[in-house]
Amino acid sequence: MDKIYDVIILGAGPAGLAAGLYAGRSRLSVLILEKGQDGGQIAITDEIENYPGQMVEGESGPSLIARMSEQAKKFGAERCSDMIKSVELQGEIKKLVGVKGEYQAKTVILATGAFPKPIGCENEGKFTGKGISFCATCDAAFFEDFEVFVVGGGDSAVEEAMYLTKFARKVTIIHRRDELRAAKSIQEKAFANPKISFMWDSVVERADGEELLDTIVVKNVKTGEVTTLKADEDDGLFGLFGFIGYNPNSKLFEGQVELVNGYIKTDENMHTNLPGVFAAGDIRVKSLRQVVTAAADGAIAATQAEHYISNL
Ligand code: NAP
Repeated sequence: MDKIYDVIILGAGPAGLAAGLYAGRSRLSVLILEKGQDGGQIAITDEIENYPGQMVEGESGPSLIARMSEQAKKFGAERCSDMIKSVELQGEIKKLVGVKGEYQAKTVILATGAFPKPIGCENEGKFTGKGISFCATCDAAFFEDFEVFVVGGGDSAVEEAMYLTKFARKVTIIHRRDELRAAKSIQEKAFANPKISFMWDSVVERADGEELLDTIVVKNVKTGEVTTLKADEDDGLFGLFGFIGYNPNSKLFEGQVELVNGYIKTDENMHTNLPGVFAAGDIRVKSLRQVVTAAADGAIAATQAEHYISNL
């Protein structure tokens, strides 16, 4: 593609879409590149109740993101669905090479987010999609009236466990410590939910079954006791959901953009170490990864991209 955009935004989660909206409103030529569906992590989040002004009962991640996508489009952001394989970010014109073509821009906003960490148990790959899942919104319905286990103790694990109780007959949270990391308000709701129980100080060591997951081996990290949990004979399977945090999607930028533990280092104005290259959202080193902070990052990054271009 010969066109040189003012801004290319990589990733259409809340950070990328907010950047697209702001850049579009600044009358910059903008291209948003995304390899999958819009939304990043919030595409698989059932309920969003902490985005300011969000008071629509039952607002889901996908419905919020659909409005964000529409809004970015309304202000002129172009869209392209492509998987970027390599990037050249050092020069004055930034180049991104995808499966479908090449893209060029004066500035780039990296908003590629993060993906769920694997549980780390034996046979995890074999049973992913056959009982093991990382997305309650996507897969909860498969476990209608079954038993499910959730690994993790943070906000995601506890919120998703509560969501799963709408489908499963019983949800057990398996946490490696004896205390949850989740916000107190979220914990209180989980403790009050009669369908949720807890296995403390425990980790899942192995998943098993024939075709589908029907057995997990859980170890108590304090006592060393190993427990084998088997699905009810009538059920023949159960679910195991992992929510133990995220890994950043930053492999493409290694060796060009400065990373800390895989996250992109920026200043408070979203500048990376490279001129004309900005980062926004969960991919950044930051203290709070939320929709509201991702959207704010995107707005700042786009505004800074505009300043950068007008000073060229
Ligand atoms: P998180 O806060 O990093 O929590 C990860 C949880 O998984 C922790 O309890 C951790 O245990 C456990 N864990 C980590 N590695 C593990 C391993 N190898 N084996 C077993 N357990 C492991 O991740 P998150 O819950 O996905 O949340 C990510 C960010 O999004 C946070 O900033 C969170 O506040 C935010 N978030 C907010 C909301 C909301 O406000 N509604 C909803 C979802 C997420 P330890 O506690 O022992 O470290």
